[in-house]
Amino acid sequence: MSYFHYSNGQLCAEGVPLGDITKDVDTPVYVYSASALADNYHGFSRACEPMDALIAYSVKANSNLAVLTLLASCGAGADVVSGGELERALRAGIAPQKIVFSGVGKSRDEMHKALKVGIYQFNIESAPELIALNDVACALNTRAAIALRINPDVSAGGHEKISTGKAENKFGVNLDQARGVYKQARELPGIEVIGVDMHIGSQIDSLAPFETALLKGLDLVRELRRDGHDIRTFDMGGGLGIVYNQDEDTLPTVTDYMDMVRRHTAGLGLKMIFEPGRAIAGNAGVLLSRVQYVKHGSARNFLILDAAMNDLLRPALYGAYHAIQPVKEPMSDQTEIYDIVGPVCETGDTFATHRRLSVMQSDDLVAMLSAGAYGAVQAGQYNTRPLVPEVLVKDSQFSVIRMRPDLEDILRLESVPGWFGA
Ligand SMILES: *Cc1c(COP(=O)(O)O)cnc(C)c1O
Repeated sequence: MSYFHYSNGQLCAEGVPLGDITKDVDTPVYVYSASALADNYHGFSRACEPMDALIAYSVKANSNLAVLTLLASCGAGADVVSGGELERALRAGIAPQKIVFSGVGKSRDEMHKALKVGIYQFNIESAPELIALNDVACALNTRAAIALRINPDVSAGGHEKISTGKAENKFGVNLDQARGVYKQARELPGIEVIGVDMHIGSQIDSLAPFETALLKGLDLVRELRRDGHDIRTFDMGGGLGIVYNQDEDTLPTVTDYMDMVRRHTAGLGLKMIFEPGRAIAGNAGVLLSRVQYVKHGSARNFLILDAAMNDLLRPALYGAYHAIQPVKEPMSDQTEIYDIVGPVCETGDTFATHRRLSVMQSDDLVAMLSAGAYGAVQAGQYNTRPLVPEVLVKDSQFSVIRMRPDLEDILRLESVPGWFGA
């Protein structure tokens, strides 16, 4: 079911016409559906049953405190990749025992904080990181539970910038080195080996790479157990893709995915960890924007929006596709083909080329769909455009869950050295 649909001639988020939101908050603005977030989470958790599983929502996909609090109330754990994300997860009420900490470059400060609060598992990506964690744990007189992130060397398709499981990527430890690092880990007094971890990429649109990686990982689990390690957890990472383009994308369902996992892990006595981000948040949000100008060029028609690449980076960064819909329901067959761009001074500030839409005018609203993950979190203030606000809808109510800073908020952090012109 879609949480964004036309009703009475206007695109709505649940029961809220998107136009109503702009009476309170200027565009551009992200709008999320609370029901979509909750239903996506529950769909994932139901599909896991009856496995012993921890669903550690990948905070980096959408880290707004309201989103995290909602997911926490649904029972979600968290996968964090920084001390900042750890703080967010804790403030949202996610129990430390449901938090895993991933990332290639954890600092000692971040390790210290995570050990203090007692997170469930560190996903360790290199031998030097292991040594550092051991030092920090020993200084605190405790032991850190770890899984080693292995790099199963599978190609997960998708964009090269979000593929992570190939031997040449910076992530994890290659399989031929893994047993050596586990051996080293066992000898460290501040380390307790509990699992195996992987994360092979993002927006993965078939089960084959997951299955190949899982089989390689389970072979390693058997070898490690033979070596005497007590391997209890297996972390599959995130990466399950979503539909961005209704006409082209075909995705495995989360049920297909879990059936595959269950088939291979039955009887192994492993607690499975999943770190979905996009699959939870991606289709739960849109970026709402207003047409500034319609420019009829000699070769193309341009829709110039008030949203830009600093608000939604994915098209500029990955050439990503977002469906774009007018908020006013198209009532006639009259259409036009547009290049849809933002106002930032970069040619890369293009959301879409050659899109057929109903005939648009300045001041019309448009929604960029599937923008709930890796949207607001990647936003910046390039061109001194204030950070894009976020709104959460539930039924017929909505609230601002991140305000737009004003110019003073931005400039206050900057200062001109006193020795200038002295
Ligand atoms: C980004 C990331 C995820 C989430 O990926 P999705 O494609 O959003 O599901 C999970 N685990 C790790 C380690 C990541 O870096």
